[in-house]
Amino acid sequence: MAGVMKKGEVLIVTAPWVLSFDKPLIKNGAVALLDGRIVGVGSEHKVAERFSTSVTHRYPGVLLPALVNAHMHLELSCFNADTALDANSSFTDWVEDLLQKRAHNAVSEKDIRIAAERQIEKQFESGVVFIGDIGNIPEFFFSPPAESHLPQVYHMLEFLGSTHDAVQNSFKRLENLPVTVAAVAHAPYSTRPELLVKIKERCDRLGHIFSVHTSETWDELSFITSQTGLFRDFLEKRGTWDGEFFRNAPESSSTIDYFSRLGLLNAKTLLVHCVSVSDQDLAVVQESGAKICVCPGSNAFLHSGVAPVKTMLDYDIIPALGTDSPASNPQPDMWAEMQRVAADHPGIDAVMILKMATQAGAKAFGLDAHYGNISLGKAASFLHVDSKKINNCKTDKELLNVLVKSGKPEIIQWIQQPLMHSQSK
Ligand SMILES: [Zn+2]
Repeated sequence: MAGVMKKGEVLIVTAPWVLSFDKPLIKNGAVALLDGRIVGVGSEHKVAERFSTSVTHRYPGVLLPALVNAHMHLELSCFNADTALDANSSFTDWVEDLLQKRAHNAVSEKDIRIAAERQIEKQFESGVVFIGDIGNIPEFFFSPPAESHLPQVYHMLEFLGSTHDAVQNSFKRLENLPVTVAAVAHAPYSTRPELLVKIKERCDRLGHIFSVHTSETWDELSFITSQTGLFRDFLEKRGTWDGEFFRNAPESSSTIDYFSRLGLLNAKTLLVHCVSVSDQDLAVVQESGAKICVCPGSNAFLHSGVAPVKTMLDYDIIPALGTDSPASNPQPDMWAEMQRVAADHPGIDAVMILKMATQAGAKAFGLDAHYGNISLGKAASFLHVDSKKINNCKTDKELLNVLVKSGKPEIIQWIQQPLMHSQSK
């Protein structure tokens, strides 16, 4: 960290490269900081001229915006996906296995808590300033204490219900839920349409982000379009299919079409995964202003397919990146996610991948006044990263490729530790 600054004192930090996103990479760049905010960005020479009396910290390597992990389940941190999923296993086999483990209390509450807290620390050490966290148990909403400077965790309490009784039960719980708790929906195959609509209405009324697992697998399509297939079988097997699931549902050609007809899509909707989406679906998402978060590591582990990131970019949608939980991702690390996007989509510009890991997540959670760019007025909580490979880079292109293709850099430091900002409104 760049040290403790006195109030009212300008600090300049410099590095051979500054990735601001507002302009191309700045060579021999500098950033001026005052009272936790960025007050100057540019070449070292220009910034030094403007703030001539300041203290300067010189870093090797790169300065870049902090990372945003837009999708996690911290309460699942204790369930490690350490063995590869059998290629013959289906998505619902994995869900069933997880439900069994949770139902049988295979892990104690204390262990769940310890694993989640350790996960928050690991995310922080890798440069994550903000985590979008989905949980089912309010008691397990883990927040770092304000003085700890760990990443901010935006907790979302997940609801689902596939039978009439389960939906009525969720309605009651929603009525009694404090307005400060953000309620979100699990997925279109577990949550009946009237519940999806109710939750979205509540989110809009209270200014919360409506996050929902969307088009995570290709199997979801047959469930939405013809009420058949893997998910119907799964609900029947569990005894949670009463034949009424789609009683209030519009006829739809895809999950995105279904969500659109239900009125779920707007700028405060975060569609997580989006693997089985068509060009037409992405046009609908773009038009609605809804955001997308992709989780390539989790999709690969569960053999769910690869989200069409290139097509999303063609539709002017820069998806956010999320690691999902360790239960479906053996390496829940944002640098590993960037590596996977680069490997899955060789044609995508490295700057775009870096934007996915930083700016897109900040925008999805309404935090772009603070994070996402190194630019005037934003928070001084950004990163210095360095490694042997970074040091050997000669050109902008080489550097950007190293950042997205090499995994976690050897050195990750916070320029200033994160401030706490109020939950997205
Ligand atoms: Zn998830």
